[in-house]
Amino acid sequence: MGTKLDGRALADKLQESLKQEVSQWKEEGKRLPKLVVVLVGDDVGSQVYVRNKERAAQKIGFYSQVDRLEETVSEEALLNLIQEYNQDTSVDGILVQLPLPKHIDEEKIIMAIDAKKDVDGFHPLNMGKLFVGQPDKMPCTPFGIIRLLKEYNIEMSGKHAVVIGRSNIVGKPMAHLLLMEDATVTITHSRTKNLKELTKQADIVVVAIGRGEFLTADYIKGGAVVVDVGMNRHADGHLVGDVKFDEVSEKASFITPVPGGVGPMTISMLMEQTVANRRED
Ligand code: NAP
Repeated sequence: MGTKLDGRALADKLQESLKQEVSQWKEEGKRLPKLVVVLVGDDVGSQVYVRNKERAAQKIGFYSQVDRLEETVSEEALLNLIQEYNQDTSVDGILVQLPLPKHIDEEKIIMAIDAKKDVDGFHPLNMGKLFVGQPDKMPCTPFGIIRLLKEYNIEMSGKHAVVIGRSNIVGKPMAHLLLMEDATVTITHSRTKNLKELTKQADIVVVAIGRGEFLTADYIKGGAVVVDVGMNRHADGHLVGDVKFDEVSEKASFITPVPGGVGPMTISMLMEQTVANRRED
C-alpha cells in the first residue's frame, strides 16, 4: 500500500504559519491582507470552491470578500469591477472563479486583472514569467503539487514524469514545473495514442483530466508516484478523483487522496500568494 500524500495536513501547517504572520501584523496595527473573489452564477462546484477559499482566508485572519454576481452580468460590468479592484490599494489579490458563463470571454477577464494581484497565477504575464524561468505568481494547483512532493522528499530530478491533461491552469504549468525540477516530462492529452504505454514507463504520473476514476492500476508501474488532480462530483455531492484510488494505491509508492490531497494545497498556495503580496507592499 502506497503512502498517502496528505495535502490536508501540509495545507494546515502552511496556513498556521500564515496565521501567525497575519496575527503579528494585527498586533502591530498594520493593514491586513485582502482577497477579493468574484463568483458569477450559481454553479454548485464553483460555490463549494469559493466557500473553501473564504473559510481558509477567515481561518488565517485576513479580509476576504466574495462578490456573488448574477449569471446574466455583462462582460463590461465585470471588467469595470476588476478595474475598481485593480486600483484599490487595500486589495492584495483578485480571483475570478472559473468557469464563467458563455457570454463572457474568460481570457479577456483574466487579462484585465492586474498581474501583480493575480494570485491565481493565470495571467499571461505570470505564465510567461514562469515559462522563461522567472516565476512570480504561480498557478496554484501545480505549485501546490510541487510543494507536496517536496514535503515528502520525492525525488523529481532525472525521473520520468507523465502529465495527463494539457489545460492552461493545470497540465501545461504542471509539466513546466516538473521540468524546472529536472524531471523528464511527457505531456499527454485526449489525442495521445497508447497512453497506457507511456504512463507505465512513468516514475511520476499526474492526472488532470476530469474523468472520475479513469486511471486504473494497469496504467502504472509498481512503485510509481501518483498525483490525482481530478475533482469529479457525483449527483449526490460525493467527490471522486481521476484515479481509482483503492487499486492504484496498492501499486503506487505515494498517492494523493481525493479529497484531502491536491485541493487543500491549491487553496494554501492561493493564501500564500495573497499574503506575499501584502508582505511586499
Ligand atoms: P480541462 O481544462 O477540461 O482539461 C482536461 C484535459 O484532459 C485536456 O487537456 C484533455 O485533452 C485531457 N483529457 C480529457 N480526457 C482525456 C483522456 N481520456 N485521456 C487523456 N487526456 C484526456 O480540465 P482542468 O481544468 O485541467 O481540470 C482537470 C481536472 O482537475 C478536473 O476534474 C478539475 O475539476 C480538476 N481541478 C482540480 C483542482 C484542485 O485544486 N484539486 C484545480 C483545478 C482543476 P484535450 O486537450 O485533448 O482536450
